[in-house]
Amino acid sequence: MTGSNVGSPSDTGVRLRDGIEIELGDGTTIVADGTRSAGDIALLSHAHGDHLYDDPPESVVCSALTAALAEARREEGGPLSRETVPEIDLRPAGHVAGSRAALITDPDTGVRYCYTGDISTRDRFYLPGFEPPDADVLILETTYGSPEYVFPNQSEIEAEIVEWLGRTMDRPVLLFGYSLGRAQKLQLLARRADRSRVLVWKAITRINSVMTFPSTPSARGPRPTWRPAIPSYSRRERTTSRSSIR
Ligand SMILES: [Zn+2]
Repeated sequence: MTGSNVGSPSDTGVRLRDGIEIELGDGTTIVADGTRSAGDIALLSHAHGDHLYDDPPESVVCSALTAALAEARREEGGPLSRETVPEIDLRPAGHVAGSRAALITDPDTGVRYCYTGDISTRDRFYLPGFEPPDADVLILETTYGSPEYVFPNQSEIEAEIVEWLGRTMDRPVLLFGYSLGRAQKLQLLARRADRSRVLVWKAITRINSVMTFPSTPSARGPRPTWRPAIPSYSRRERTTSRSSIR
């Protein structure tokens, strides 16, 4: 929950505890991104480690892909039971695969809470950008909230990386990125640059085995079709044959 800074005026029913706790009019508590089971309803925005449970709750509101990724990252926790509840409407958050913001409507008071989790409003690769819904209470989180972070246009960044990957084709290069999120985007950029061999750490292989990727490397234009996960080499599975993330 990097960089979160939650104001907690008492009349909103929102508290920063182990995760974000939202108390509805009838006393029901929804706990978002807590490390342990607490509250009546558990909500999981995405499967990054700083949002993920230590012990799985009995059931959780999240996307199917987040559940699969969470299971892969918390293998010892076993299968995760998902549920849907009428108070919570999940919306694409644009952050990483499976990530969802939640629009929570209190059935008694009609107050609408928007809990974003990590979000991005940009369209990136296989992720449509977050579109904020109307809400009365906004619970916002971001890694790049400071005005000092102003990034170039997404397509410029991608083109710069692809150009560099092409220019360095005669040598191995190291790319760093979180195993869920940046690692998959870097693999797609490597594919776009025609880098034919990509070796990845086993944590990334585990994530890749769960995710599906678009058959086209760009989110621009028509929505891409989807296909099974990118095959890639883990460090243990090195081989001299041509790989590929195609
Ligand atoms: Zn995150």
